[in-house]
Amino acid sequence: MNHHELIEIEKQHVWHPFTQMRDWATDDPLFIERGEGVKLFDTNGRGYYDANSSMWLNVHGHARSEIDRAIIRQLGKIAHSTMLGLTHEPAAELAGRLIEIAPPGLRRVFYSDNGSTAVEVAIKMAYQYWRHRGQNRRRYIAHAEGYHGDTMGAVSVGGVGRFHSMFRDLMFDCEIVPSPARSLYSDEAAKKLEAVMKTYPGEISAVIVEPIVQMAGGVLISPPGYLKQMRELCDRHDALLIFDEVATGFGRTGKMFACELEEVSPDLLCLGKGISAGYLPLAATLTTERIYEAFLADYGEWKQFTHGHSYTGNPLACAAAIASLDIFDDDEVLNGLSAKIECVRRKLVDIGRLTHVGEIRQCGLLVGIDIVVDKKTGEAFPFEKMIGIGICRQAREMGLITRPLGNVITFVPPLSSTEAELTDMLSIIGRAIDDVTN
Ligand code: PMP
Repeated sequence: MNHHELIEIEKQHVWHPFTQMRDWATDDPLFIERGEGVKLFDTNGRGYYDANSSMWLNVHGHARSEIDRAIIRQLGKIAHSTMLGLTHEPAAELAGRLIEIAPPGLRRVFYSDNGSTAVEVAIKMAYQYWRHRGQNRRRYIAHAEGYHGDTMGAVSVGGVGRFHSMFRDLMFDCEIVPSPARSLYSDEAAKKLEAVMKTYPGEISAVIVEPIVQMAGGVLISPPGYLKQMRELCDRHDALLIFDEVATGFGRTGKMFACELEEVSPDLLCLGKGISAGYLPLAATLTTERIYEAFLADYGEWKQFTHGHSYTGNPLACAAAIASLDIFDDDEVLNGLSAKIECVRRKLVDIGRLTHVGEIRQCGLLVGIDIVVDKKTGEAFPFEKMIGIGICRQAREMGLITRPLGNVITFVPPLSSTEAELTDMLSIIGRAIDDVTN
């Protein structure tokens, strides 16, 4: 089939996520054909920097031979077999590797296949855990500006109005406390969290948070100390603590996991996206022996965790994940990050001087740049102006792909980006901002 026919078919039949399809239909869709390192190439052979790691997924660059080879090797054996009643070597090996690098206390790995399901698993596991302890705890606590995925459980604990309010009537009970990033001090956020916990003694199943960085809320960074305070409050009020590291995990913040920045371990840890280096769909929910043991019983008691997806723990994806962890070790990826993070910080100083750039937030290689009407007042552009979309479109013309979050330009490069590549990417973003806002 030729490319022109495919464009027609795409426009007639494909429905894209988070996309206004009326605009899409009038646009020229960009077909990505291949990737190499930190670049994507379209069907005309034109290259673009993958400046958001293909939606915060890619870790070591595209077409990494070690990962490709690991997938092909596994493909030579079997592409998929189930985790229901059977197991396979890649799932076993990966579980061991994940526990080695996980925050202390986490001992068990429950696989699924995307970030939202990792969160669903955590929510349901927490609920069922309390049921096994003879308590019916239906209440969750989550944060304003928090985002945990698009399935209904994950939406119920979501706190971003423009993504979640549409589905309010379908959601289960969840108390939304203020975003820690919107509080000046961690004490302020923690006080509000404690107030809610005191309102519902013995009713809270779990508290969920994106540790340190609320990504989809606009790359919002929490004040230091909040994770520690959450841990203490959950212990004191006997609630479980869920960390959603789907976006922040696997090196993005400079540490393997963001919660290491405060040395706090959750009861449940949700992993996705970068777990397979952004190659194949895979996710995992890690938990403690205490939670795991509550599910052990005689068969007739029906205490097994009643959850599981068809492609849970896919062997190809597990093979990719193991190869990715090997690269972390062999290339000492984490050791190499501080120079890259510093390089980005320096370059962001230039961007910060632009007339219409407001606050810039950076944690490791996660960056959000606010585009504002007025630097002094921080006045935002009206949404209808689509300023973020306009800037990203301009950047694409200049050879770089990223996506905005409203008026926030996100920059989430693969960890493998060199300093020269990072500098080049940020130059393009700076020029695109300048061109569109002036
Ligand atoms: N949690 C967080 C923190 C996320 O950023 C996302 C996706 N952006 C998800 C969960 C959901 O992951 P997925 O899109 O793989 O379902």
